Amino acid sequence: MSVAAIKNPIFVGELVVYMDTPEQARVVEIDCRYELYTTANSCTCCTYRFSSRRNPDFQCRHIAAVRKVMSGEVVAEAD
Ligand SMILES: [Zn+2]
Repeated sequence: MSVAAIKNPIFVGELVVYMDTPEQARVVEIDCRYELYTTANSCTCCTYRFSSRRNPDFQCRHIAAVRKVMSGEVVAEAD
């Protein structure tokens, strides 16, 4: 991941991802109603908390967005 990705908002579909560290991001819905803490393997959203009990490999859309940023598939527009 480039340094520019850290602390810059990155739009992934309808989500905005802020990488706080290379491992953890804050993910905000486009309407800014919720701020979630998300890593490649966990998320603070309700969907993840409930679904991950049944399926430890469950990936909510926030985790999917963070993984896209971590992999470099989606990058910050400004660098
Ligand atoms: Zn989530």
